[in-house]
Amino acid sequence: MLENATQLLQEYYGYDSFREGQETIINYVMDGKSSLCVMPTGGGKSLCYQIPSLLLDGTTIVISPLISLMKDQVDTLLQAGIPATFINSTLTAEEVRETMEEVLNGQYRMLYIAPERLESQSFLNQLKKVKVPLIAVDEAHCISQWGHDFRPSYRAIHRLKDVFTDPPVVLALTATATPAVRDDICRLLQINDDNTVITGFARANLSFSVVLGQDKNKFLKDFIKKNAHEVGIIYAATRKTVDLLYDLLNKSGVQAAKYHAGLPEAFRNKEQERFLTDEAQVMVATNAFGMGIDKSNVRYVIHYQLPKNMESYYQEAGRAGRDGLASECVVLYASQDVQTQRFLIDQALDRERIPQELEKLQGMVDYCHTESCLQQYIVQYFGEPNGEPCGQCGNCTDSREVQDVTKEVQMVLSCVVRMGQKFGKTIIAQVLTGSQNKKVVDFGFTKLSTYGILKNKSSKEVLGLMEFMIAEGLLLVKQGSMPTIYISDAGKDVLLGKRKITRKGVAVTKQIAKNDP
Ligand code: ADP
Ligand code: ZN
Repeated sequence: MLENATQLLQEYYGYDSFREGQETIINYVMDGKSSLCVMPTGGGKSLCYQIPSLLLDGTTIVISPLISLMKDQVDTLLQAGIPATFINSTLTAEEVRETMEEVLNGQYRMLYIAPERLESQSFLNQLKKVKVPLIAVDEAHCISQWGHDFRPSYRAIHRLKDVFTDPPVVLALTATATPAVRDDICRLLQINDDNTVITGFARANLSFSVVLGQDKNKFLKDFIKKNAHEVGIIYAATRKTVDLLYDLLNKSGVQAAKYHAGLPEAFRNKEQERFLTDEAQVMVATNAFGMGIDKSNVRYVIHYQLPKNMESYYQEAGRAGRDGLASECVVLYASQDVQTQRFLIDQALDRERIPQELEKLQGMVDYCHTESCLQQYIVQYFGEPNGEPCGQCGNCTDSREVQDVTKEVQMVLSCVVRMGQKFGKTIIAQVLTGSQNKKVVDFGFTKLSTYGILKNKSSKEVLGLMEFMIAEGLLLVKQGSMPTIYISDAGKDVLLGKRKITRKGVAVTKQIAKNDP
């Protein structure tokens, strides 16, 4: 059977071999096993249902929320000689009727539909008469409230499954692989989670790094100067910051373009064009920029402020190095930017989703403070097992000496416990450094044995140590309007002397090795 699949791959697509994961998924589907395929955007998910649709008897249904892309997708298939069609709200009632008739005649290998269709019982009744071996659910994270794009109509997919007497195989596909989303997809679509394939999140040509505690504007100007012959994107969290950076860079002689949703459309288009044609060397933008932009020679993506979660980060950073050449992805971290993101989350979302979003933000903050391989952190965040250290990120190339910080870590843990595990980082740092702050005194913390135990350090250093401990999973954050800190089981092990903790260097600043003088 796989021979056939490989043959089809060559015949219809002109490719010689499958990419990692594609074969496994196709095998699952052909064996009648419902499964989940997680690959990043551009990873090659479409083939995983298109090839089976050519091998299976009947019409494969593809559910996709991207109505604007459906026609393009179908046109591409038709050009390759694969009979496919779509039904969505852009068609007239007459066109829908005609298409349905052709589908019933068995004219198509694939039928793309928008999820909203599934809410119509009369549509489901018509489908009943179609032979459907496979239902492919594209952008399957839309079924989960944990995903970034929840669509209530996706919940109607289970109704579709029950329409047919011969239950079709379900193949869910997504680029979002956080465990909560994966669980939801498998549970709601009745997929055995053993049949999950996650691959391809590592991007070998990207070097990741995090810059902490430096003058960001200076870093930016130096970086751009050093890469004067390359083009890059600088992402900022707010429109205001984009405007400021744009002025700053242009004043210092950099050909910068800018893009955010507050600018008139004509202006935005002009700026985008300037960047796409390399007339502007740098694009300064909010996350409004980049969707559907295919510029292959972006050599660096710098996040001037940390993005709201790892999903957004990897999508934006991933716009670097599309051509496969070595490229850099840098986050400039400052703790006040976490506040900015908290504020934006608080403004933008309905109340219910705020705790989830804050948890995701914490994942981003942890990325900025881990001392492990950054590429590995990303790949593991997206659920791909067995990530190896990349050897080229800011952490892998950090040659500073490893120090045993077990004692300091124990002091912090002990203080957190003594304070009752219900306070935030700032006041814990104040207690540890022996601050006379009114709140510290009023709570009676000056009497604790851990009061002032780290007074040889600045509160900034202690906060840095705590961020490191959070990133390493020794301390946990209870999210809320006033986040508090408590200790994890791993933290308890350290407190009990069962585990040693090492850290690279003790300086507050951390530089990417490449920029070390
Ligand atoms: P996704 O849906 O995961 O975003 P696509 O299915 O659109 O990704 O595939 C991205 C690109 O990779 C397409 O141009 C596709 O033709 C190409 N591609 C997919 N599989 C292979 C393969 N086995 N070999 C070479 N190119 C492939
Ligand atoms: Zn690495």
